[in-house]
Amino acid sequence: MLEDKDRIFKNLYNDFGIDVTSSKNRGDWLDTKVLISKGRDWIINEIKSSELRGRGGAGFPTGLKWSFAPKEVGSRPHYLVINADESEPGTCKDRDILRFEPHKLIEGCLIAAYAVQAHVCYIYIRGEYFNEGQILQEAINQAYKNKLIGKNSCDSGWDLDIFIHYGAGAYICGEETALLESLEGNKGQPRLKPPFPALVGLYGCPTIVNNVETIAVVPTILRKGSKWFASIGKPKNTGTKIFCISGNVNNPCNVEEEMGISLKDLIATHAGGVIGGWDNLQAVIPGGSSMPLLPKNICETIKMDFDSLVENKSGLGTAGIVVINKDQDIIKCMARIARFYKHESCGQCTPCREGSGWMWRMLERMAKGEASREEVDMLMDVTKQIEGHTICAFGEGSAWPVQGLLRHFKKELIKRNNFNPLIKKNKNVPYLIDQHLLEEDNVKN
Ligand code: SF4
Repeated sequence: MLEDKDRIFKNLYNDFGIDVTSSKNRGDWLDTKVLISKGRDWIINEIKSSELRGRGGAGFPTGLKWSFAPKEVGSRPHYLVINADESEPGTCKDRDILRFEPHKLIEGCLIAAYAVQAHVCYIYIRGEYFNEGQILQEAINQAYKNKLIGKNSCDSGWDLDIFIHYGAGAYICGEETALLESLEGNKGQPRLKPPFPALVGLYGCPTIVNNVETIAVVPTILRKGSKWFASIGKPKNTGTKIFCISGNVNNPCNVEEEMGISLKDLIATHAGGVIGGWDNLQAVIPGGSSMPLLPKNICETIKMDFDSLVENKSGLGTAGIVVINKDQDIIKCMARIARFYKHESCGQCTPCREGSGWMWRMLERMAKGEASREEVDMLMDVTKQIEGHTICAFGEGSAWPVQGLLRHFKKELIKRNNFNPLIKKNKNVPYLIDQHLLEEDNVKN
């Protein structure tokens, strides 16, 4: 369990005020000039040694990402872009940073911008976070007024301007290249990679895109030292993390804990336990809706860090933990998630555009027991035809939850769909057509 002295986000529940003075009292903006004066190599090496991994979902090493920015600024300026388009179902950690700890983010922006040689930082915030955006804007105004950012920020010699840009509600704009397209005023559709944004990003210029939580922890890591951060958690899975716990728990919450805490402890200690007791647990989605669910037997012992979850064929993702107890229909739950992804696909890639709709329709029928036994295996085929065959990771994000259901609840799917008289009457009917077409076919025959 994380000790209070190691907590980075001391105002996660807004007990101590969000203004610049209250933030300074908590240690923000302390000796920022000294940190910057140590140079960008020192900053990047410290972040590398801390083994901080991106908190937005992919878990890419942050220091390494920063080191991809060109060493010298050429004819094109460098940009820092903060991804605050938090749209993953089950996730609301960045929201609490934006509204309760905005100065941690702004100070982190200054240090990161200096490290990657950017004089302009854009914070791309989802349009639904309008109130949070207003609070953040007020904090940015205070930072300008106190000369913490702007010309000669913190008396460091570095100039930095920060602009907020509101998104218009598309989930896919959380994908970094779609976000850049949207920021440029285009339709938010992911770009083919390479080139990666570190070399060709916003307006074709070198751009580093980082998540809100990733940047907000940077000043504390530099102040307390990379060794301190790396001593929390385990190698390659270091530091603290904000977990969002929702679903069938008694006390849904956001909580900062050490990386690698056991899922069972997290739910019992911070979320008041599963509704109906631990034995009433059916499954947990551990990292936002795009990560495969885990059944109760794995939840008994699983540790909440990147590598432990990958070993169990899931992922930490955004650390949005959704608890599903036995009162829920697990197939219906996953059909609902599939509907979300079908709705949010940007439509550029055929496997994603068509496949996400197929998965949703099949799951809807499976939830009602209106599919055939063969379709259960066919559903896995559909997920495999999406996975790895698309421009961006959305394809995997839509296929993995379905794979998780098939991996752990196949028996349930078969039990409900084993005896569908409609399919048995006409074996030549294609599987992937809508139910009403199927019914029409049977009437004709
Ligand atoms: Fe768009 Fe889906 Fe292709 Fe991503 S995988 S680019 S969301 S169609």
